[in-house]
Formats: sequence, C-alpha cells, structure tokens
Amino acid sequence: MPELPEVETIRRQLEREIVGFKIVDVWYDREKLLRPSPREFIDGVVGKTIAGVGRRGKLLIFKIQNPKSKIQSYFLVHLRLSGRILVRSPNTPPDDYVHVILKLKAKSQKPKALELRFAEARLFGYMQYVGGQKEFDEILKKYGPEPFELDEGQFLEILSTTRKPIKLLLMDQKKIAGIGNIYANDALFLAKIHPQTPANTLSRDQASRLLKAIETVFKEGLKYGGASDQWYRQVHGEKGSYQEHFKVYGQAGKKCERCGAVIKRIELGGRGTFYCPGCQK
Ligand SMILES: [Zn+2]
Repeated sequence: MPELPEVETIRRQLEREIVGFKIVDVWYDREKLLRPSPREFIDGVVGKTIAGVGRRGKLLIFKIQNPKSKIQSYFLVHLRLSGRILVRSPNTPPDDYVHVILKLKAKSQKPKALELRFAEARLFGYMQYVGGQKEFDEILKKYGPEPFELDEGQFLEILSTTRKPIKLLLMDQKKIAGIGNIYANDALFLAKIHPQTPANTLSRDQASRLLKAIETVFKEGLKYGGASDQWYRQVHGEKGSYQEHFKVYGQAGKKCERCGAVIKRIELGGRGTFYCPGCQK
C-alpha cells in the first residue's frame, strides 16, 4: 500500500502539473470508486479549478475552487492497495485498470488539456467529493499527527496509550498518520526494536531512536520516489526504487547487514512482519 513517501511523491508531481486546470468532464465505469455517489461527485467537481494538492497521511487532498465565487471545496483520493493516479495527455493510449478519468483544461498553460486517470486494479480505493469545510474537518480529525510533526515527548505520550505491539501502533492511522507495513518494518529495524514490543514499555531512549528512524526511512523513501515492489507508480507511470533499498521488509532468509543473523518473517495483525532476531530483541 502506498505510504507517506509514495503519496507525497505523487502529491509533489501533481502540484507541479495540474494546479490551475479546470475539471471539464468526468468519465467512469465503476460506481463504487466515486463517493458519496457518482452523481454527487460529478456535480461537485465539474466546472471547478484545481487550486492545490495537499496530503494527510496516505490521503491525497485536491483543493478545488469555483472560479466565480472562489468558494473552496475538496475531493479526496485514497489509493488503498493498488490505486494509481496518472497524469496523461488525452491522446496517450489507455492505461490498464483505469476506471475514472477527470478531463482537465487550462486557459493559459501548456499543455492545454490533460487527463487525470484513476487506475484501480482491486477496487478498494476511492475518490470522494467533500463540499463543506465542516465535513472536511471531520474527515481529517480521524487522522493522527504525522511523525515529522511530533517531538519526543508527544511521541512517548502516544506510545503510552496502548500495550499493543509497537508495530501495530505505528500503523494505526488514528494515532500516527502515514506509516504502513514497509516503513514500519524498516524503521523498527533501524531503531533495533522488536516489532512485538508492547508500545507502552518503550524507554525514552528507544522512543527517540524510533522517531528518528521513521524520519530516516521516510526521507529515504522520498529520495527514491517511493517503493514500487507492487502496484505503486508515479504520475507518469514510472516506478520508484525504494524497493531496491529495503532493510528488512520482504528480506526473510537474507542476512542482516548489521549483525549477519538471518532475517525472520512472522505474522502480526495479519501482516507480514520482518525483523532481525540478532539485533531487534
Ligand atoms: Zn541484525
């Protein structure tokens, strides 16, 4: 699943390419991808101009504006497991798994026409129109702070709220937003913490190492344009390359680069969990 570095990579690309464009039409062939309903989505976005692209955790936030009244509304995109957001010129051949296309036009920019294509092989992702500021704020309240926004004390406070394994807490979007399976595994490895350690038993020193480790793996993920070991692609269809730099994620059976022990895989909360039994005790 795309995590903070993947979604941030796309966000930066979108911000460069589609801001200022007007949404002139929407095509779709799968109703469930458009929320609250295809009709409400289309009525909400058509005729509006894209004013900016933001992000909260793994959620992409498109700010759209009525060109006359300047009233702001939003549409949100969650890529879930297999979603892709592609920016194409209208004459580019069709991409696989595309079920929604937003047709964009610009007055003074070049190119004058673009398509924002939403590809979703497994149909778990969605695009959602949100008309009101209050409704938008309510949705964002469901997400915790991002790791970059936390200091050590605030992070410790979040850790103290649960006895759950630290890895599960890291992936709980209500507590901390943006971390998924790949970066949780790699950050715990860097911080030398066993993924099953109860969150509230971490020492101040461990918490501090872990927060730094999360920042380190996120920065690395961003540097390599995200991890494309599975579905994730950038907006022109290119792959990121963080998968060539995984530390323990997906590395079961290989030797730990730090201590030489063999990396193990266990299941935790139904997800593949990778760690080094030598240096993550
Ligand atoms: Zn090791």
